Amino acid sequence: MRNVYLDHAATTAVHPKVLESMLPYLQDKLGNPSSIYSSGREAKAAVETARAQVAALINAQPDEIIFTSGGTEADNLALTGVATALSQQGRHIITSRIEHHAVLHTAEELERKGFQVTYLPVDPDGLINPDLLEQALTPETIMVSIIFANNEIGTIEPIDRLAKIAKKHGVIFHTDAVQAVGNIPIDVEELNIDLLSLSGHKIYGPKGIGALYVRRGMNIKPLMQGGSQERKLRPGTENVPGIVGLGKAAELARIELPARSAHLTELRDYLIDGVLSSIAHVRLNGHRTLRLPGNANFSFEFIEGESLLLSLDMAGIAASSGSACTSGSLDPSHVLMAIGLSHEVAHGSLRLTLGRENNKEDVDYVLSVLPDIVGRLRAMSPLTPAKEA
Ligand SMILES: *Cc1c(COP(=O)(O)O)cnc(C)c1O
Repeated sequence: MRNVYLDHAATTAVHPKVLESMLPYLQDKLGNPSSIYSSGREAKAAVETARAQVAALINAQPDEIIFTSGGTEADNLALTGVATALSQQGRHIITSRIEHHAVLHTAEELERKGFQVTYLPVDPDGLINPDLLEQALTPETIMVSIIFANNEIGTIEPIDRLAKIAKKHGVIFHTDAVQAVGNIPIDVEELNIDLLSLSGHKIYGPKGIGALYVRRGMNIKPLMQGGSQERKLRPGTENVPGIVGLGKAAELARIELPARSAHLTELRDYLIDGVLSSIAHVRLNGHRTLRLPGNANFSFEFIEGESLLLSLDMAGIAASSGSACTSGSLDPSHVLMAIGLSHEVAHGSLRLTLGRENNKEDVDYVLSVLPDIVGRLRAMSPLTPAKEA
């Protein structure tokens, strides 16, 4: 049996060159970057090299990169940090219905603290209409936060147009680009982005490290109090091995991006075409072309995502689903609901996300086992109409 990992949107394997770059900082290079002696200065220099590497990936300046514990903290810092800093100026925030929980739940917490939040809807492909953003802006709006590319359905949002509208109205624009970074080219200058979240473990770096890009001159408050690390925006002794690993991962992503993206797009389209042509009663979720290179998300009618995941696991395939059990609540994924799927169809969803180490043989293997698994589950399912069983 083959083992095929197809859950790169959940996490990725550390790139061998990333691991190699980190090891010295877990062994003898032990200095605290705030210390004055040589191993401290060496650690400080390594952190600054990583800062420049991360900045280069998104065309930012090194001093605009704040290291955090991951994408979740970067999202929290962006939303809460700006809301706290600008609460005297206005108390209205605009985001979307398809954000990651790190943004969605932070926005909900800000609502409990007296802010007003507008959640923009999306069309059936998961796209946000820029006209709706224009209409939602009020003199009270201080911030817009829109996911760059969705982690479940892969749809890439019209970030250039959305950020331009925010800029025209003098409103800060944040994007959760955790899934987009390293997969599609991003230039924060060209796109007028003020704040951007990214995460190490989604780009073949280590877990527990990420960064927030904060445009120069931005008024933002820290979430925590402590030392003066990260321009006082993120106090605490730096996670030096993690930061070094993230820097290396960012450098590799910048160099390899065109090749990675072409490889993934080809595999993705082969997978999508293969599934749609070999299985009946299936739909592709997310936009057909404006989607992340490695993302495929399907809904299979009459079956449950969890049973599908278990059967795939027995066949050596790691995947994920937006069905209720896997979303950790009674309701299926808020993203699948937002694109208008019924509960039944959302429950039968399957997300397959490809990565740099996948090849055509992996996809062929999936295409060789999936139709039988779906057929078997449908034959057992009480949801299947008699004529389809
Ligand atoms: C994974 C992910 C996050 C959270 O990042 P962590 O580093 O795991 O905290 C946030 N947003 C999106 C879109 C993600 O895919």
